[in-house]
Amino acid sequence: MKIFEEIESEVQSYARSFPRIFNRAKGEFLYDEEGKEYLDFLAGAGTLNYGHNNPVFKEKLLSYIEADGISHGLDLHTRAKAEFLEAFNEKILKPRNLEFVVQFTGPTGTNAVEAALKLARNVTGRENVISFTNGFHGVSLGSLATTGNSHHRGAAGVSLGGSSRMPYDGYLGDGIDTTAYLDKVLSDSSSGIDMPAAVLVETVQGEGGINAAGFEWLRNLEAVCRKHNLLLIVDDIQAGCGRTGTWFSFEEAGISPDIVTMSKSLSGYGLPFAVVLIRPELDQWKPGEHNGTFRGNNLAFVTAKASIDHYWSDDSFAKEVQAKGRYVSGRLQTIVARYGEGNFTTRGRGMFQGINCVNGEIAARITRKAFAKGLMIETSGADDQVVKFLCPLTISEANLKRGIDIVEQAIAEVCASEGEIPETVDFFEEDYSVSAEERFRKAS
Ligand SMILES: *Cc1c(COP(=O)(O)O)cnc(C)c1O
Repeated sequence: MKIFEEIESEVQSYARSFPRIFNRAKGEFLYDEEGKEYLDFLAGAGTLNYGHNNPVFKEKLLSYIEADGISHGLDLHTRAKAEFLEAFNEKILKPRNLEFVVQFTGPTGTNAVEAALKLARNVTGRENVISFTNGFHGVSLGSLATTGNSHHRGAAGVSLGGSSRMPYDGYLGDGIDTTAYLDKVLSDSSSGIDMPAAVLVETVQGEGGINAAGFEWLRNLEAVCRKHNLLLIVDDIQAGCGRTGTWFSFEEAGISPDIVTMSKSLSGYGLPFAVVLIRPELDQWKPGEHNGTFRGNNLAFVTAKASIDHYWSDDSFAKEVQAKGRYVSGRLQTIVARYGEGNFTTRGRGMFQGINCVNGEIAARITRKAFAKGLMIETSGADDQVVKFLCPLTISEANLKRGIDIVEQAIAEVCASEGEIPETVDFFEEDYSVSAEERFRKAS
């Protein structure tokens, strides 16, 4: 439509991948103006774990609005907020033996990360924060400093300080525990790495290419934090709310973060909502030190409570997500073996998985073909080389199968038209036997 070209900013991104005008959505489907149906394996980049317009939450939301419930309340105590906190405490925190206080921030993920970073720095009196290669934590300046992606970092216009990057699990290849390197530099007063306030980590890197950290690596990371007295911050904005098969993505690893950030699927309904969970001793905020006009999005409290009541009162939903995750793993492994010619690999865990196509061009061809077949699916990673499966967790088994079938068909067609997948410069597994300069010469 002309209006978008006329006055919407060039900054648009997803709209370029899916150039249709959408005006209705239900469950795992989006519909464009012509009424064409699209199966949604994008799911708001992990914001629609319970699908579009989930009927259970919609009913609660409509009756709340009908009764003139508070919609905006700054940080005033409201009935809706109390009920969210009660549900969260009783059904999420207590059964997991977690003791956290809840900070309501401005309703974006990046604002929760900003708050977490500020708090960690103020509590410890240290500035540096360890973050990881390919990490993504948002695009406001503090979060951006901890984000790896050069495209996003380049837009900052100021120097991005206060963070040291460390290699994520697997970055240096299998069998290398990168937490040993972190431990080493923190133990060496001449390493050049300032003693950090905290370590900020995603257990599965969403935007960075669905890189899943091993549970042992996460436990080792926690041990390094304890040894050097650093706070452990888990950014569970994309991996949380059941995406990996448990409410928190770190549950299976058995680690106990000091601070957790959550947003994306937290409201359950795609409504803006973010929180920081803080170990009580660390809650040293002074009143109003971090604020935000929209930190009291009460409509989101209503739907968030409904999502917890409906899906998290027992472990049946978690089990369902885990079973679907196993199905996805099996299918993706078969696809990779059948078409990947030894190049493609699977990544991720639970319902947070992807296929690494090694080459961004090929991944883009696959997702474009999938879209032509009625499936919305995106890529992530440094070169957009990973096809990212992120459908609603509530998807029916038939539609889960159908979506993966479409991707399989798209891959088959792309691979057939290629003859074979071209040899590409390996951007990811850098060859550490040669100098950086040589690598650069080889790549260019
Ligand atoms: C999306 C995301 C953010 C940023 O959230 P916004 O709402 O886009 O600011 C931060 N961390 C992770 C892990 C994310 O996936």
